[in-house]
Amino acid sequence: MSKKVAIVGAGVGGLAVASRLAHRGYNVEVFERLPECGGRAHIIEDRGFKFDTGPSFVLMPDFFEEIFSYCHKDIKDYLRFVPLDTHYRIFYPDGDTLTVYKDTERTKQELCRLEPRSASSYDKFIQEIGELYRRVRPLLYSCFAKKDLLNPSLWSLATQLKIHKSYWQIAEKYFKNKKICYALTFEAMFIGVSPFRTPSFYSIITYVDHVQKIYHPLGGMYEIPRALEKIAQEFGVIFHYRQEVKKISVSNHSIILKTKRGECAADRVVVNADYAYALKELLKRKLPKFTYSCSVYLLYLGLKSKLKGFEHHNLFFSRDLRKNLQQIFDDGIVPQEPSFYVHVPTVTDPSLAPSGKDIAYILIPVPNLKKFRGSFSSVEAQLRKVVIDAICQATGQNLEDLIEVEHRFYPEDFIKRYNVQYGATFGLAHTFMQSAFFRPPNFDGKQKNLYFAGASTQPGGGLPPVIASSRIVADLIERRT
Ligand SMILES: Cc1cc2nc3c(=O)[nH]c(=O)nc-3n(C[C@H](O)[C@H](O)[C@H](O)COP(=O)(O)OP(=O)(O)OC[C@H]3O[C@@H](n4cnc5c(N)ncnc54)[C@H](O)[C@@H]3O)c2cc1C
Repeated sequence: MSKKVAIVGAGVGGLAVASRLAHRGYNVEVFERLPECGGRAHIIEDRGFKFDTGPSFVLMPDFFEEIFSYCHKDIKDYLRFVPLDTHYRIFYPDGDTLTVYKDTERTKQELCRLEPRSASSYDKFIQEIGELYRRVRPLLYSCFAKKDLLNPSLWSLATQLKIHKSYWQIAEKYFKNKKICYALTFEAMFIGVSPFRTPSFYSIITYVDHVQKIYHPLGGMYEIPRALEKIAQEFGVIFHYRQEVKKISVSNHSIILKTKRGECAADRVVVNADYAYALKELLKRKLPKFTYSCSVYLLYLGLKSKLKGFEHHNLFFSRDLRKNLQQIFDDGIVPQEPSFYVHVPTVTDPSLAPSGKDIAYILIPVPNLKKFRGSFSSVEAQLRKVVIDAICQATGQNLEDLIEVEHRFYPEDFIKRYNVQYGATFGLAHTFMQSAFFRPPNFDGKQKNLYFAGASTQPGGGLPPVIASSRIVADLIERRT
């Protein structure tokens, strides 16, 4: 009889593990507390607007292709990724802008406008982060244990990966203009960390953005979890929605999941729910002293008409980005003058809104709820106003007048809806001490047959690494069966 695997959570990580293992012949059941799949990659549909509420950038498309080919499926039968001609526009507080294009020559022209002769510096910068990427990429499909640190063949990695340098320092080496340094390191915020603190090897995100380019799945980001759920169902995975797992325990040779409806015994259990939450609440263990990523405050706006001056992805940088990041990551203060991101997917994909209308999804990084002890409601109105005013100033449009539909998502909603510890949107932070060997591994050190896949485990957060974590878990289970 085939082995039974139970998965806690139908986020992208859980769906990807389910598809892989069911394809390999395991008998897989998924328990999800919400009524639908996707986890943080969720969707709100309201009056003809389709708001993707979480991820908005598709980077590293090869990671998405990998899971489809692993399952002997053609990705084109499930998803249509289109490359964006304009990657994003950055709005600086002094009125300047910088646009990054798919066409590298156009991007270089933009950089040279801010810093003459920076085109050759850009080539050298891309070459350096490209070398980091080539070293890091194979590691993204590996699970390291702390004991691997004793392996001398891995020691040289520390020098090769320039662990003594920060993401910011790599950019600063090539460009004098701080606006360019910000433009080439802001991607650290994709994983919820500050570029001033994050190790240089995370600059591979800038590399994949600039070299492998940015994609959009037609129909919206939610098509991704939907496609993975479909594959899983084609292989016979059983989904138990609205079934929260309350406890994970061990009995004889099985692992038991306790839900409100009863108990389920499985030969293997994969936890896709947030790692820190699962340790504390499901396994009843003491939480190590983790560092958490930032949280975010989100506005999803359905607009009566088209927005002018925006690209698909837009970034607004505050006057003092360093102070802004310090407030979020060190001081636990909601910045009064925040940097923020505006996603207008209808630029590429008009199917996401009624004809002639636009979506504006605004993401504002704020401290996580371990750092921030105040009341968010006391700062919310001011924060929202500052952002809407900044958009008005940059584009000459009063966004407030255009709003037809509005939804909001607060830091505490990440706890209430997804069980994410401290509402830390991106899970455990990607500090040096929480990367590779030091990040929670994909297997449990104490309990045999218990595994972890998702943003807070190895290799890390973001859709491509989460999909890689599902491969690591599937391979570990196969190897140990
Ligand atoms: C606002 C935002 C923007 C982002 N932008 C990007 C981007 O542009 N590009 C990118 O690649 N990534 C982005 N990310 C990161 C990416 O979305 C996440 O890394 C990824 O979706 C996490 O997937 P996961 O499977 O690890 O976890 P989750 O999505 O959190 O899934 C875990 C699932 O477990 C369920 N669960 C929890 N507890 C229980 C329980 N006790 N019983 C049963 N079920 C349970 C939850 O409900 C959830 O469905 C973004 C994330 C957010 C929130």
